[in-house]
Amino acid sequence: MAMFNLSGMSKPKDNVYDVIIVGAGPGGLSAALYAARARLKTLILERATEGGQITLTNTVEDYPGFVLITGQELADKFVEHAREFGTNFANEEVVEMDLTGEVKRVKTDLGNEYTSKVVIISTGSNPKKLGVQGEDEFANKGVSYCAVCDGSFFKDKPLVVVGGGDSAVEEAIYLSKIASRVTVVHRRDKLRAQKIVQERAFKIPNIKFIWNSVVSEIGGNNSVEYVTLKNVKTGELTKYSTSGVFIYVGLVPNSELVKDVVKTDEHGFILTNEHMETNVKGVYAVGDVRKTVLRQVVTAAADGAIAAVDLIKYFD
Ligand code: NAP
Repeated sequence: MAMFNLSGMSKPKDNVYDVIIVGAGPGGLSAALYAARARLKTLILERATEGGQITLTNTVEDYPGFVLITGQELADKFVEHAREFGTNFANEEVVEMDLTGEVKRVKTDLGNEYTSKVVIISTGSNPKKLGVQGEDEFANKGVSYCAVCDGSFFKDKPLVVVGGGDSAVEEAIYLSKIASRVTVVHRRDKLRAQKIVQERAFKIPNIKFIWNSVVSEIGGNNSVEYVTLKNVKTGELTKYSTSGVFIYVGLVPNSELVKDVVKTDEHGFILTNEHMETNVKGVYAVGDVRKTVLRQVVTAAADGAIAAVDLIKYFD
């Protein structure tokens, strides 16, 4: 799905750091920038794409200073900025962490072990699945969670987008330029997305909305051909033709690796105080993986800055 952007990934020179940041999304990259400027020896470990989830977004219009920028361009600027001030990057997946001692130990899929005084968890989130029949069966055969990655396969074809949040509506707008028709299926009769995004979507002639409905099944032969829609008010079931289903029904935090050590809420989002500290001394969490009221690039970046300024106390 995601495009890999490993250009310029430099191999760390040694294994002992002041700060290790797990995940190179906006929160992690902002923390890296601040930590590196505080002259702390900083390592970011990223298993996939530098920049995180924003690289999967076509346009960003709500990061101050940029009226319009692509997600990839904004991510590249974050990476370049963190690198400029001396952050070390490694394209390695963290497979194990020992966070409870004074010295934190982080092991990766390449068999490396890194140590540091402070760890920042910036592992972000993944798209939540709908959990309906056909969803797994038709993965990569019409079911997608990433319009930027997969939209081009559906030129002049009808599509369904599921959800009513910012992701669903923004990506429906993106897909409307490629597909013949985009039908947004939402379980209520009101969208959750920002008003300006809603207004734009309502004006696009080939975006249709089906309200008070959920997708209860995804079906077809070799690829997606239809969804079954259930009206949540009447219970009525309808077969609806489509070549693809783009699912945007929320996020699942990537906190699996630390959930037994670090306190989370019932959904797995990591609990922090206002300094971004978790319940474990020397362990911070920033960005989408954290329990927070707003998940935006600007709030992830702010989390990173707050964490990095707070953790300086470990090095005074
Ligand atoms: P979200 O805001 O949690 O919205 C999820 C949507 O899916 C909601 O409309 C929800 O319905 C619906 N939903 C949830 N479970 C469902 C189910 N089982 N079946 C059908 N519908 C279901 O998720 P998101 O849009 O992915 O956004 C995640 C976070 O990223 C948000 O904080 C969002 O603001 C942020 N974000 C920001 C931007 C931006 O600033 N440009 C872009 C993308 C995302 P209800 O409304 O009824 O709950």
